[in-house]
Amino acid sequence: MNHDDLAYWSKRAADWARDYHAGLRDRPVRPDLQPGEFRARIEAPVPEQPDPIAAIFDDITTLIPDAMTHWQHPRFFAYFPANAAPASMLAEQIANAMAAQAMLWQTAPAANEMEALVIDWLRDGLGLPADFTGTIHDSATTATLSAVLTMRERALGFEGLTAGLSGQPRLRLYASAQAHSSVDKAARLSGIGQDNLVKIATRPTDPLHSMDPAALDAAIRADLAAGHHPAGVILATGGTAIGACDDLAPLIAVAKAHDLPTHVDAAWAGSAMIAPEFRKLWAGVEGAETIVFNPHKWLGAQFDAAVQFIRDPGPQIRTLGLRPDYLETQGADEVVNYNEWTIPLGRRFRALKIWVLLRAEGLSGLRARIRNHVAWAQEARDAIAALPGFQIVTEPILSLFTFRFGDDASTARLLDAVNRDGRIYLTQTTHEGRFVIRMQVGQFDCTRDDVMMAPVVLAEIAARS
Ligand SMILES: *Cc1c(COP(=O)(O)O)cnc(C)c1O
Repeated sequence: MNHDDLAYWSKRAADWARDYHAGLRDRPVRPDLQPGEFRARIEAPVPEQPDPIAAIFDDITTLIPDAMTHWQHPRFFAYFPANAAPASMLAEQIANAMAAQAMLWQTAPAANEMEALVIDWLRDGLGLPADFTGTIHDSATTATLSAVLTMRERALGFEGLTAGLSGQPRLRLYASAQAHSSVDKAARLSGIGQDNLVKIATRPTDPLHSMDPAALDAAIRADLAAGHHPAGVILATGGTAIGACDDLAPLIAVAKAHDLPTHVDAAWAGSAMIAPEFRKLWAGVEGAETIVFNPHKWLGAQFDAAVQFIRDPGPQIRTLGLRPDYLETQGADEVVNYNEWTIPLGRRFRALKIWVLLRAEGLSGLRARIRNHVAWAQEARDAIAALPGFQIVTEPILSLFTFRFGDDASTARLLDAVNRDGRIYLTQTTHEGRFVIRMQVGQFDCTRDDVMMAPVVLAEIAARS
């Protein structure tokens, strides 16, 4: 295959993609497939001779879609969305065509300088103060790990990097019981250890399920009294299970009183902050050291792109940055080389899809979508609450709510039947020890009709069970 062939097949692929998207509503969101079934369909020895691309293309288009869960299906209400606005897909195609490696300014000047610009655009779009800068990671998991590694090194006077962790004081991290598992992973991978991640209880009657500032303060004091060394606090805006939002202002005040850095995980909910009326959910965020949000979730940038806003990049660069001779930029010591802000050396040109998305949709277009999703989630919640046998367990936070249908077993059976039916796709979590079904509204192309099909499908399948 050469570049002329690529141009021909790219056009075919683009036509296929348009038809694929146009036909999504006629497909089940999740295929009814057993593990191993797909591999059996493509099982073959490693090719010794080249296959004609036409045959390969045929296999791609006939075999794969039926064995995929369709994340761009307008009735995908599971997990959180991984949206892909057409404008951002176009940008990804261009970035792929140039296939640059944006580790240094000089290896991709446009990527580097556009990254700085889109960070500023997003910071302003989300209403954050101008003293935040930042960078783009692959995932929120990596951004949170970067923040936690920086917390570790701050606490150790930047000696852990060279001396290692043995013989060091016992470091402690604090997060809500509603924190995402990426926070647990960061505690594990940073060498701080899961046992030193203190999970703080949430306030019992708080509709936003914030951790309790007094409990955070008490936990830090108890650790200090025990001779441990607190290293930082990870806060949540829009937890994955039920959308929990920590009450940032008083929690950051507690952290500051103990001279501890804070990192806010707003991987999903951060996108909603382009609409000023939702910013009360993270009131006080300007006091945080770092914040992560994923434009690849609700905003519409094609996966993957996780933005970490950073007030002072110095400590993170000191933690993650290395500059061997072969990565020096001759004659330009002062340029920003983003690999020093992130974990991998190699970096994709992720800024392009955000720049194109923001230009093609405008903040106003993106805001209108998110506002619709929040309003439709409330309508769906009301319709489900009115169905016999259904009970809302957690109220909508932005566009996420949870519900039950009888006991754990019947709720799980209903979920399974709904997902086998395929018209909608929902997933589960546990809340206060009970099995609940999560519903979030956020797919880029979904309409009110798509969302309101959820109560219809639920009613129909519940009546059969
Ligand atoms: C999705 C999510 C993450 C993890 O995001 P990745 O980019 O997949 O690593 C972390 N925290 C929250 C709250 C999330 O919703």
